[in-house]
Amino acid sequence: MSKLSLDRILQSQGFGTRKYCRALIEDGDVTINGEVADNFKATFETDGLVLTVFDEEWAYREHVYIALYKPANFECSRKPSHHPGVLTLLPEQFTWRDVQPVGRLDHDTTGLLLMSDDGPFIHAQSSPKRHVPKVYHATTAEPVTEELVARLLAGVQLHDEPAPLKAVSCVKLGEQLIEIVLEQGKYHQVKRMLAAAENHCSALHRAQIGGLTLAALGLEEGEWCFLDQAQLDLLV
Ligand code: URA
Repeated sequence: MSKLSLDRILQSQGFGTRKYCRALIEDGDVTINGEVADNFKATFETDGLVLTVFDEEWAYREHVYIALYKPANFECSRKPSHHPGVLTLLPEQFTWRDVQPVGRLDHDTTGLLLMSDDGPFIHAQSSPKRHVPKVYHATTAEPVTEELVARLLAGVQLHDEPAPLKAVSCVKLGEQLIEIVLEQGKYHQVKRMLAAAENHCSALHRAQIGGLTLAALGLEEGEWCFLDQAQLDLLV
């Protein structure tokens, strides 16, 4: 439980600088429980607080945990160079809150991307010590053969890795479509493993992280949603 002044609350939720938030409040653009709240010094209990800013409702959140259905041609990097960054797919408040992707997908990879402004959560989720299975669907340039599946399960040697990397599971889904489950998150891992097994990844999609599936979230490409505690508990 904590009480904060309204300008601090707005700032913490990513509505801009303290000065800008004060101006929003004084201009009557913020309502609480249907009442215009125009005193920026007024304090409110943050737990369960719902604000309306420019007629849009926002529940107070100490941290945000977001799932994005990443489309192709968006970069996860903080300083995107060739394509727009994934943050441009989210409301501007999240940039102010310093929301960042949890790990990375390549610019041409689609699918489930987690994002948050909770540093320890990002750190814990990205740690190589965590062995959270991630499910990828890869379209291949050459047919998916039994030999390919066997090689990925047995482990393939990538040139900068000390030991062969194995898929936890590998299933042929179609003539040129394979499901690969990995517990590590090395650079371009799926693409490099397929190349090392003498195939080529022509399109890549992440369908699942731990027990959290993109399908269950019901998102369309480019859409995002907040994750609740039950959904976060699936990321193990
Ligand atoms: N492996 C890849 O090669 N690329 C991704 O974006 C994710 C996993």
